[in-house]
Amino acid sequence: MGEDAGITRRFFCKDRNAEFPIEFPSDLRKAIAVARDNLANGTISDVPLGGNCKPFEALISSGKWDDVLLYQFKCNSCWQLFELSAETYHGSGGWWKPVE
Ligand SMILES: [Zn+2]
Repeated sequence: MGEDAGITRRFFCKDRNAEFPIEFPSDLRKAIAVARDNLANGTISDVPLGGNCKPFEALISSGKWDDVLLYQFKCNSCWQLFELSAETYHGSGGWWKPVE
């Protein structure tokens, strides 16, 4: 599996490989960048979960990650929900994945 396998900067929700494990801080940075870009171009929308996580926009603008991230996004074309979760202290143990 190459460096750019899995998640890419182009969002493709219907791809069955949309599930992407976050194993390293670089994975998390990439996943956050993809979410940010696709929010900016209107491909996906932020789904507020409440709880302790700050809004995704605040995460992007501050550049500071909470210890545990949990965000959901929905595709604006087909309404598929996606979840971004990670333990940022280790930069690992997370996923970008479709929510059934
Ligand atoms: Zn979609």
